[in-house]
Formats: sequence, C-alpha cells, structure tokens
Amino acid sequence: MDNLKVVIIGAGMGGLATGIALRQVGYSVEIYDKVSELRPAGAGISVWSNGVKVLNRLGLGKEIARIGGVIDRTVYYSHTGEKLTDFSLQPLIDRVGQRPYPVARTDLQKMLLDANAIENVQLNSTCVAIEQDAHSVTAIFANGRKATGDVLVAADGAHSIIRNYVLGYDLKRRYVGYVNWNGLISASENLAPKNSWVIYVGEHKRASMMPVGGDRFYFFFDVPLPKGTVSTDYRSELTSFFTGWADPVQTLIRCLDPLKTNRLEIHDIEPLQTLVRNRVALLGDAGHSTAPDLGQGGCQAMEDALVLATYLQTTNISVEDALKRYEAARKERVADIVLKARKRADMIHGKDPQKTQQWYEELKHEDGTDIINAISNTILAGPLH
Ligand SMILES: Cc1cc2nc3c(=O)[nH]c(=O)nc-3n(C[C@H](O)[C@H](O)[C@H](O)COP(=O)(O)OP(=O)(O)OC[C@H]3O[C@@H](n4cnc5c(N)ncnc54)[C@H](O)[C@@H]3O)c2cc1C
Repeated sequence: MDNLKVVIIGAGMGGLATGIALRQVGYSVEIYDKVSELRPAGAGISVWSNGVKVLNRLGLGKEIARIGGVIDRTVYYSHTGEKLTDFSLQPLIDRVGQRPYPVARTDLQKMLLDANAIENVQLNSTCVAIEQDAHSVTAIFANGRKATGDVLVAADGAHSIIRNYVLGYDLKRRYVGYVNWNGLISASENLAPKNSWVIYVGEHKRASMMPVGGDRFYFFFDVPLPKGTVSTDYRSELTSFFTGWADPVQTLIRCLDPLKTNRLEIHDIEPLQTLVRNRVALLGDAGHSTAPDLGQGGCQAMEDALVLATYLQTTNISVEDALKRYEAARKERVADIVLKARKRADMIHGKDPQKTQQWYEELKHEDGTDIINAISNTILAGPLH
C-alpha cells in the first residue's frame, strides 16, 4: 500500500526501528513517547545476528559494527573460577552469516534516533486511549492532543497500556523469579579477555561480562530472589550474594559504579494469541515481553519492525489485512522465544536444582557445539535466515 501515515507510540528500540523501516518504504511516520528525555533503560544489550541482519537491511550495518563489541569466544567458568568451557563463536557466524554485536544501549538508541531524524520524535506525549473506525486510527494523549493515521504501532513496552486495548483485558506481567543488576565498566584484562563473552555460573546465580564499543564491558549479575526485595546499596548487596566467587567477579564488584548500576526484577508475559486489533499492531515488548535469558527481546522487536513494514508495503487489500498477516507471521515466533527464554531462566536460576546441577556438569563437557546449535537455531528461525 502507498502513502500510509503511521503513528508509533513508544520510542524504544522497537518503535525507532519501525520508524526507520516504514520511512524507508515511503510512509509518513510520527513517533510519540511519554518521557521528557529519552534515556534507555539498562546499560547494554547483545544484538544477536538476527537483529543485526535487520539493521543491515535498514542500512545501519556499518554503524552497528562501529558501536558494537567484538566477541570471538564464549567462556564459562564455575563460580570459584574453574574454566568449564571456552569455544570460538566463528562456527556460529559461519552458520548464520552475520556476527552478533553487544552494544551500549545509549549508543544503540543514538544510532536509531539519528536514523529517524531526532526532531520527528515527539516527547511528553503519554498515550492514554485509542479510537479507530473503518478509515483511520487516533491516539489520544494525556495533554489533550491527538494523532491520527492509517496505522498505529503500539511499541509502548513491557507495561503497554495499548496491549490492554488490543486484548480487551488487563494482562498482568509475570515475575520470572530473579533479580538482575547491570552496568558498564572500562574493559580490563583483570576482569576478562577483551574479545570474549565470559559467564561465571554457580549457586543458581550468574555473573557475566561482554565487550561493547568504546573499550567497555557490559556486565550483569543474576540472583534468584523472592519478588519485592529492595536495596539501596548495590555494592554491599552484590558483595554478600557473591561471597567466595572468583577474583574477577570480586574485582568487578569492587570497581563498578553503584550509582550507574541498574537493579531490576525480571518479568515476562504469557505468549499472546492476538497481536493486532484492526488498525493497531502490538510490536516489541508490548506484544511479547520476555525474560532476557536468550538475549532476544530487542532482536524480536527489530524482526517485528521489518515484517510489519514488509506486509504493509507488499500487500494491498487493506491495512487490517496487512496487520493480520503480520500477526500470523509473528505470533508463533515470539511465543516460542518467550517460552524458551522462560525455560532457560528456570534452568539457570535453580527452579529445579537437579536440572541446574546437570547443566553445570554438561558445561564441563561442552565444546561449543550444543550451545552454538541452540543459538543458531533461534537466529535462523527468524525472517532473515
Ligand atoms: C536485563 C535485560 C537484559 C536484556 N538483554 C537483551 C539482550 O541482550 N538482547 C535483546 O535483544 N534484548 C534484551 N533485552 C530485552 C530488550 O531490552 C527489550 O526487548 C527492548 O528494549 C524492547 O524494546 P521496546 O521498544 O519494545 O520497548 P521499550 O524499550 O521499553 O520502549 C517503550 C517506550 O514506550 C514509551 N511508552 C510507554 N508507555 C507509553 C505511553 N502510554 N505513551 C507514550 N509512550 C509510552 C516508553 O517511555 C519507552 O520509551 C533485555 C531486557 C532486560 C530487562
């Protein structure tokens, strides 16, 4: 279809990637976000090869390679520092046809904003309601303004209010069972090799570092905890949870900046049967908020963007018909990711302690084959295989 006007609610990575994809097929795009200043939640993110392929398609291949970190190897250690496995990621790159890039979220956001032309994103615009009829759809904002278009993309994140409008009921998020701390730190060989993704596992917890651009590591810690715990002193909290862990983990805790460290309880949502309502499409976390244990939430948002733009551009029955095709193409893919990530989160964090122990044992005999198979299957099940 030609000459569509698209209203996008949410300027996270899903909304911004969609803005670029739709502008490139010649549509008029307006992006609205409720915040007064765009700051990404979280410090870093691994953009796996399926996400990078979408960025390549959007013309951002060189830029993501410039801001991304280069991971050549993956290394697992036990929590006390025994090396469990250390393997090259080259077979993965050969299999899927593209290197993954871990990046700092601010760099990723800047890249996507620049590609959208920043002045096209309107801030201080909280969408509070949607109205639509046979000809158009309108977003209504808390400040009384309205934005009308042919299509509305709900990229309003994990706490989406438009999801409730699309589903017709209030869907509650589900606590996955662990807390995650994450941040950025200057890269140093005292912490980890600069070309490796390093993961310490034990006691149902994880500590991990991976290189991002700018000679920094993105780090994260995971600890299974009941819902509702709070802390004001992240360093003391981490020191106590990771007592007895290997030296690099202690160095990381000593050197991180607690004021620039994020702490969050990890949630997901049940897979949805419905991703669209007439002229409104859920995209990104609004449609499939997932545990981060596959590193795929943001990559799926980018896949959504590409698939949505493709159906709108290449079919011509109606907007509603194109969105139904988008829903059919994405529903199972994203449900699979949510459920696989949930299963992996349970295994990593000791939901069944025997299974977690078995995973630790398996890692001692892993030469990379099984892990690379699993990651490449996930990547190759996407739209750009
Ligand atoms: C700890 C952690 C690690 C992760 N690691 C990875 C990883 O390695 N790889 C990966 O691919 N993914 C990862 N993810 C997932 C990834 O962060 C998300 O999937 C991604 O950020 C979702 O993008 P989004 O645009 O859908 O939503 P968001 O980034 O949440 O953006 C939503 C936007 O909508 C705006 N908004 C909300 N409500 C309204 C409203 N009513 N009106 C107007 N605007 C509104 C918000 O202000 C926000 O800017 C991780 C997630 C977590 C929590």
